[in-house]
Amino acid sequence: MSKTIQSIRGMHDLLPDDSYRWQYFEAKVAALMQRYGYSEIRMPLVESTDLFCRSIGEVTDIVEKEMYTFEDRNGDRLTLRPEGTASCVRAGIQHGILHNQIQRLWYTGPMFRHERPQKGRYRQFHQLGVEAFGIADADIDAELILMTARLWRELGLSDIELQLNTLGSNESRNAYRTILVEYLERYRDQLDEDSLRRLETNPLRVLDSKNPALKSIIEQAPSLLDHLDDESREHFDKLKSILDAAGISYTINPMLVRGLDYYCKTVFEWVTTSLGAQGTVCAGGRYDGLVKQLGGRETPAAGFAMGIERLIALMQEQDCAFAQSRPHAYMILQGEQAAKQGMVLSEKIRDELPAFRLQTNCGGGSFKSQMKKADKSAADYALIIGSDEAEAGTVGIKNLREQAEQLTLPQSDLFDYLSNTIIR
Ligand code: ATP
Ligand code: MG
Repeated sequence: MSKTIQSIRGMHDLLPDDSYRWQYFEAKVAALMQRYGYSEIRMPLVESTDLFCRSIGEVTDIVEKEMYTFEDRNGDRLTLRPEGTASCVRAGIQHGILHNQIQRLWYTGPMFRHERPQKGRYRQFHQLGVEAFGIADADIDAELILMTARLWRELGLSDIELQLNTLGSNESRNAYRTILVEYLERYRDQLDEDSLRRLETNPLRVLDSKNPALKSIIEQAPSLLDHLDDESREHFDKLKSILDAAGISYTINPMLVRGLDYYCKTVFEWVTTSLGAQGTVCAGGRYDGLVKQLGGRETPAAGFAMGIERLIALMQEQDCAFAQSRPHAYMILQGEQAAKQGMVLSEKIRDELPAFRLQTNCGGGSFKSQMKKADKSAADYALIIGSDEAEAGTVGIKNLREQAEQLTLPQSDLFDYLSNTIIR
């Protein structure tokens, strides 16, 4: 026998035993977005490679070593999107929906990064992204954070800490860069290969290093917070004052620089200790320069992205409830006449009672095997039509989960019975 084909390493199927959790999460998110006045946008999974090089930055983990890039049949260089912000900005500029207006947008979907697969880190993973364009004020930064905090509450999540930092304006960052380089030069012999390279190309990125050997050097580095310009400081103060007033607690983490180049001013991450090393479940910030950098007009913007795999793992870890919708009933059909009658009756039930979840037996089978299927479907009731019931125009109703006499009703009385007794 030939070897069966397997899914690609780090890319996973979502099976029925898990998909209901994702549906629950997605329904919560869609409702939340509506409540805050955000609209969904859907972008292609594939974009020009250039888009990500120009936005995320050449000297970042993503662009340097994580992108799935290939040439298509025309020789065009394409990339499976590693994140959504760049595509969202590209779409916004292309369709002229960013200039001189406010857009509050969200999207979900798969992202692709060639990383070493491990718990909480996959090669195809899913993000919820939220982006707000056209608002320079810190109040929108606060709204984005309040929205995430509300989502944690609605999902029943706890133990997620908000870490906050500001990167300042480009000017203040450039001034700080010189000071940081001077400091890091002193430890040149202790830096790893990545950090040495970044010291030349993008020294702030050194602060983002995950190498434990560099931890103390990084912790003692001069802080950008001591070199902020007035406007960035006021922006940061306003954000903090709104969060304080709304009762959202946070930790200021001066080492939080985020792995993408386009951020300025506010950056934040929501981090949990319950998931091991992959503890960041949501990350975002302000990126006022990006729209212009990608060819649009100057447009202030802020947003965040959540890792859905990590959030769902956290919900399972914390025993959060996921509503799962099982069928109310499974219809068992014995004999040819019953099979036909049952299909028609099932359709009538779906016409009359749109909230009723009904699975109808297809493919025949003995009474016993159909009862087994009914049980496996997790339905509460079996609706039974055998040849006697088909002849008499009746239907049997059997409770599959509790001891009770089987009931027989005329098929015409079934709708009332189901709506009064079963859907409540
Ligand atoms: P990390 O430091 O964990 O690599 P990142 O800074 O690269 O994260 P972002 O680009 O900010 O991540 O993406 C936002 C969120 O998406 C992350 O906080 C995380 O929850 C999730 N995420 C990122 N990469 C992966 C991945 N490979 N697998 C699963 N989730 C991921
Ligand atoms: Mg990463």
